[in-house]
Amino acid sequence: MSLLHTDGLTKEFGGLVAVDDVTFEVESGETRAVIGPNGAGKSTLINCITGALEPTAGSVEFDGEDITNLEPHETVQAGISKSFQTASIFPEMTVRQNVEIAALAAEHGSFQVNFLKRLAGFDAVHDTADRMLEAVDLLGDADVEAASLPYGDKRRLEIAIALASEPDLLLMDEPTAGMSPDETAETVDLVEELQEDLGLTILIVEHDMEIIFRIADRILVLNRGQVIADGTPEEVQQSEQVQEAYLGG
Ligand code: ADP
Ligand code: MG
Repeated sequence: MSLLHTDGLTKEFGGLVAVDDVTFEVESGETRAVIGPNGAGKSTLINCITGALEPTAGSVEFDGEDITNLEPHETVQAGISKSFQTASIFPEMTVRQNVEIAALAAEHGSFQVNFLKRLAGFDAVHDTADRMLEAVDLLGDADVEAASLPYGDKRRLEIAIALASEPDLLLMDEPTAGMSPDETAETVDLVEELQEDLGLTILIVEHDMEIIFRIADRILVLNRGQVIADGTPEEVQQSEQVQEAYLGG
């Protein structure tokens, strides 16, 4: 049985069909990629899975449960987490406190930030936070202010924040955007390590084809909201429709 499965998932914005009848599945333990030109509907697809957007039609099943109309905090509790959400870091708090807050938020099912800020530092989530900081190689910086981290380390902290809920499925939407080549290489290594060390299943949107072909087990290709290919990197590379979509044919 697959871990995640969408059936006919569709999202319309006014007259625009951003995600058009998308059926695909993610197997437990795999690195699953979604690629496609700008505006293809990749982020919208991810946001329909997390509950950030309500699908117009179709369904999402996760771990055998229908999660189609759950709220974002409910999909987190179900075991899905997304990194690189906007403004997820509290700059004035320490690196460790940021991860502790995220762990508490996941546990309490909400983001009552002021309340959680008072709780942060409680022993209950200290170990979880340190485990996740270790997984992203930031444990040495646990006590520094988050604001002082260099850009690449901030993105690692965002991953640790996403991991704080101890998800089964980690969603990543263009994790290397804005990174230097060195930071990009480090992030790719990190994604591979996380999967091995934490037994994570990863669904990743990434524009860098070299990265995708290196790390993905299977690739879903979207164009104008529709699935135009789905298979192993080799299968997808050979698809005529994919070549047309990318070469503008
Ligand atoms: P991608 O992530 O593949 O670049 P998106 O999912 O962001 O594509 O967008 C798919 C299409 O949906 C685009 O045409 C985009 O302009 C449109 N779109 C995305 N979000 C919204 C929104 N909130 N309201 C209206 N249109 C949107
Ligand atoms: Mg996008």
